[in-house]
Amino acid sequence: MSTTVLGYPRIGDRRELKRASESYWAGRSTAAELDAVGAALRRGTWESLRATGIEQIPSNTFSYYDQVLDTAVLFGLVPPRFAEAGAGRPAREAELERYFAMARGCDGAPAMEMTKWFDTNYHYLVPELSPETRPRLVGRKPLSEYVQAKGLGIETRPVLVGPLTFLMLAKNAAGAPEGWDRLELLDELVDGYAELLGFLAAAGAGWVQFDEPILVTEAGTAVTAELERAYDRLGSLAERPRILVATYFEAPGARALEVLKRSPVEAVGLDLTAPRTLEVLSSVAGLGDKTLYAGVVDGRNVWRADIGAALSVLTSVLGLAERVVVGTSCSLLHVPVDLDAETGLDPALRSRLAFARQKAAEVVLLDRCLTDGGAEAAAALAEARAADAAKPPPGFVDQRVRARLDALGAGTARADYDRRRRAREAAGAPPLLPTTTIGSFPQTDDVRAARAGYREGRLDRAEYERRMRAEIDRVIALQEDIGLDVLVHGEPERNDMVQYFAEQLGGYATTRYGWVQSYGSRYVRPPILFGDVSRPEPMTVGWTTYAQSRTDKPVKGMLTGPVTMLAWSFVREDQPLAETARQVALALRDEIADLERAGIRHIQVDEAALRELLPLREEDRSAYFDWAIGSFRLATSGVAETTRIHSHMCYSEFGQIVAAIDALDADVTSVEAARSRMELVDDLAAIGYRRGIGPGVYDIHSPRVPSVEEVEAALRTALGAVAPDRLWVNPDCGLKTRGYAETEAALRAMVEAARRVRASL
Ligand code: GLN
Ligand code: ZN
Repeated sequence: MSTTVLGYPRIGDRRELKRASESYWAGRSTAAELDAVGAALRRGTWESLRATGIEQIPSNTFSYYDQVLDTAVLFGLVPPRFAEAGAGRPAREAELERYFAMARGCDGAPAMEMTKWFDTNYHYLVPELSPETRPRLVGRKPLSEYVQAKGLGIETRPVLVGPLTFLMLAKNAAGAPEGWDRLELLDELVDGYAELLGFLAAAGAGWVQFDEPILVTEAGTAVTAELERAYDRLGSLAERPRILVATYFEAPGARALEVLKRSPVEAVGLDLTAPRTLEVLSSVAGLGDKTLYAGVVDGRNVWRADIGAALSVLTSVLGLAERVVVGTSCSLLHVPVDLDAETGLDPALRSRLAFARQKAAEVVLLDRCLTDGGAEAAAALAEARAADAAKPPPGFVDQRVRARLDALGAGTARADYDRRRRAREAAGAPPLLPTTTIGSFPQTDDVRAARAGYREGRLDRAEYERRMRAEIDRVIALQEDIGLDVLVHGEPERNDMVQYFAEQLGGYATTRYGWVQSYGSRYVRPPILFGDVSRPEPMTVGWTTYAQSRTDKPVKGMLTGPVTMLAWSFVREDQPLAETARQVALALRDEIADLERAGIRHIQVDEAALRELLPLREEDRSAYFDWAIGSFRLATSGVAETTRIHSHMCYSEFGQIVAAIDALDADVTSVEAARSRMELVDDLAAIGYRRGIGPGVYDIHSPRVPSVEEVEAALRTALGAVAPDRLWVNPDCGLKTRGYAETEAALRAMVEAARRVRASL
């Protein structure tokens, strides 16, 4: 047997990559300095894996921004608008400048689109392809990283995004003919990979890993002919490293697995933490003479492996392949680097956790348990760990929460929407086309400094509150001056829309250094939801009612919904997600009741991650919708008929979830639409959605200030599908990453546009 991991965090123990890249972008360091940090981070990873005892170490898992972007650059797939980026600079500078321009945009060339990597919170850059695109190998990154490791005496397995996954995750460029199939580029692209394999073989590489997670989706399973062609070609090369094709995040489709089994590749990687995988593997009668890379250590969650269970899975696959390599279910990119840094966590909770470094050690431990040398000692260690992890951390079980949920059942349904609407109209007719925002206002340095000062004990509670209130005063006054109709307090007290609540809820723990890359230099610290969720105290009522006390206009309360609270946390696995979502919903239900009691009449429950948690397999989707919708309704159904529940979702690919948006039964839903030309509005109209809708009228992801005419045009487009008494006017997401100057100008344009459209109705 042998051991491996499919990938590793690239950000460094102390976010070194973030610091280095941001300093480079700001012109404070040189390309050589940035490259030196990159080289040191790679070396650190390889050496750490080697010290842990991992035998097969991956390389090319490092990236300055994203592995899909790296692949596009490797094959010269640079959209034409970036052709001039970096021109005239020395070679390495020019290369980096163009690379970062693709990721972040540059003068006159908007960045490439970014979207979520499968059902994770990692974002990749979407390659743009057209019939004119000519993929060919122009880069050497996987080779040079392999050579760097070799120079350090470390043999590695370069990791590549596989050709099918790459093409299917790309999109057709703006000018590509309607219906053009990107898979037409497959053969040319595979030629490029073939050339690369030749170089790797010449440099001495024994193995290469092709990541093909697309094979776990229905779309991926549908392209078996292409899969066969690609790997037959790569497998039949005379000079090449041995090939591992890794699938993960779910079981691959049986047909795809059949093809891989027939193909000349030497090894297949399977995610054995997915419940279906063993079944699929048995259905094809195992891998025959191939090697199975058995992903038994979960690469996506932070719980320690159940060594006993993992051993029994390993034992059951031993007969299904010629050889078995123990490994992780996917790259460890999705978990924090090192648990040892978390000295502040409760010891009983800590003993249940494993981050990337600990997961690599688990792989090694599993291997030792199965092989002769050290098997006994390893088994004893595994047992001691199990005993340790069996002690529940404080707050693990909350009988009161469980009893209340049992008593509540599905929660009460709200009155019919038309009835709610009439009740509200009787209480005072709302203006047509009401203007509002999504919640956050720009987070200034002062606001961040105040939060940091309070957290680190330099500011006492009274001073902190004084500063936050001063900020709320400013934000309320600004909104009144601009003429918005439904105001917000601006969320200055929130570092993050999930962490803020997690810090106040029972059953949740937060980490100090538990950073995970979300995209580029943006990392998040997902909180750990380990036990029953309870709400010891109101979480937002103080700030919201303070804001309401400063204005006669209605102030909208702001909460994060159950699905999003789960999606952006590491969640317990000892009970179904549905149950955990209900516990979060109950806490929100209590918060909403308190807000209402305090006189708040608009309450927004953000479900930014509703789309993200959509299961990869169609057969799992209806169960998902049941609990996702059920928990939202459990949270929001306790309110009076006159209270407006808002929801917000910030992405544009809604195709599969329009019906779910409708089923949430929110009174108003605001969505991202500025970049997607309001398609969603048509989609919602098509299914007969009849409640309030606020399609974002301008894109907050860019500092550009929209003109009044532009916003007006967006509103008139929306009015083509939505009755004027259902249309809300808002930007397409929160404003916290923007500056005040552009925010104020944009909101003024938005309010003026709404006025003009109203006047013309
Ligand atoms: N209310 C949140 C904000 O405005 C919503 C953020 C989001 O949807 N991502 O920041
Ligand atoms: Zn949003």
